[in-house]
Formats: sequence, structure tokens, C-alpha cells
Amino acid sequence: MPDKLSLEGVSAILSVPLGLVVGSFLNVCIWRIPRDESLAFPGSHCPQCNGPIRWYDNIPLVSFVWLAGRCRQCKTRIHWRYPLVEGLTAGLYLMTVLHFGLTIRTAFLLLFLSVLVAITFIDLDHKIIPHVLSLPGIPIGLVGSLLTYDPSPRDAVTGALIGAGLVYLVAVYAEVAFQRESMGGGDVNLLSMIGAFLGWRLMLVSFGVAVFSGAFLSLALIASRVLSRKDQIPFGPFLALGAVVALFVGDDVIDWYLGLFR
Ligand SMILES: [Zn+2]
Repeated sequence: MPDKLSLEGVSAILSVPLGLVVGSFLNVCIWRIPRDESLAFPGSHCPQCNGPIRWYDNIPLVSFVWLAGRCRQCKTRIHWRYPLVEGLTAGLYLMTVLHFGLTIRTAFLLLFLSVLVAITFIDLDHKIIPHVLSLPGIPIGLVGSLLTYDPSPRDAVTGALIGAGLVYLVAVYAEVAFQRESMGGGDVNLLSMIGAFLGWRLMLVSFGVAVFSGAFLSLALIASRVLSRKDQIPFGPFLALGAVVALFVGDDVIDWYLGLFR
């Protein structure tokens, strides 16, 4: 422990409960947005017995442990994904505050990462990326670049344009060459948003990580017969993973890659 708590230390500590609360809200988004339900009404309720969840049973992570992972009324198991999303969001928030400090850029990145978490789990469940999540992210990312110059506005606009074009070209190519749908309009918006927030260089790193990890995991799952060749594997979670990798270690990856040609 440090001798005295610095502003950075306090903000890092506070980022964890903030991430847990946001993660709890993202669970609501992940369930309701693809079902076209309102985010505000009705209040939280058990999907099994429809019983309302009281505020003291709705404290992120804590309530899950307190209730031993079951609904208070009907005793149905609460899916482990609820605490997972909360913990994941809190972890990402902590990493961001530790890595980027208490800055305007950090505020934009926390928003960016929250949207990525929601998109990941919606795409896993429904094989769609709702426009309501990915499209507003593009102008918000560009506004962030105007305010912070990190990335520069020119890099952000270039990233948003190339990101959209790249997925679009790969999707058209896959359809012509393999007669199969690999990526959709949601992925176009998603990589465009990643380009707007991270700039074109880190957008390319995100895309590279997504393609490699996606291909690797797909082949592994098909080889182990968990999935068949015909199963459609959503690409959004891999793009989100790529963006997180690019955000935290992307510059090192670029240095390493350019070093190969020196
Ligand atoms: Zn219940």
C-alpha cells in the first residue's frame, strides 16, 4: 500500500464500484435491447417468476453472493453471466483508470468499453449488433478525438472510414468466394466505431486480433466438434476483444510488427 492515497489511487479504487454498477445496467441492456423492451420500465424483475427484485437484492456481485446465486422468491438459479458481466466491466474500468489516469480520454474510453461489453453479449446471444449501440458510438468517438486529440481528429475520421470499408469488403469477398455470410452491417458499424475511438492504426490492430482469434477459436471449436461448419459464429465479440487488446497493448504490437521489417 502507498503511504498516502493519491488522486490516482482514489480514482482507481472508485472505478471498481462504478464499473460494477454500470455492469449491472449493461446486464439490463443485454437482456432488453434485443427484445425491444424499455430500459427504465418495468423495474428489475426475475425472468423466471417475474417477481420484482428489491434494491437490496440488486447490489452488483454482493447480492449474488448473499442470495447464493438464486432468486429470493422462486429460488431459480441466477445465471452466472450476470456477475460475470459486472466483474468484467469493473475490471475493464480499473485497467482503464490505472492505464490512462483521470482524464477526459478515460471518460470516453469507459463509455466505449461499456458499449463493447453490451455488444459482445448481445451478439453472442442473438447474432446481431443493434444499431442503437454501434451507430451513436461513431460520432461520440469523433467528438472525443476533437476534445482530446488522442487520437487526432484526422486519425479518428480515417479510422472510422477505413474500419467500415474493411469489414464491408471482407463481407462482400466472403459472400462471393465462399457463398456465406461472415460479417454483417452490425460489424461494419462496430469496426467503424472502434476506428473513431482508437484511430486507424489501433483499429487495424483490433481487426487483426479479431480475425486471428476468431479463426483460431472457430477452427478449435469445429475440430473438437463443439460447433459444426454450418454454425454461424458471431464476429462482434472478436472485434470487441481486438479493441480491448489494441487499447492496452496496441502500440507495443505496432512497434513489434514494424520491427520485423527493420
Ligand atoms: Zn424468481
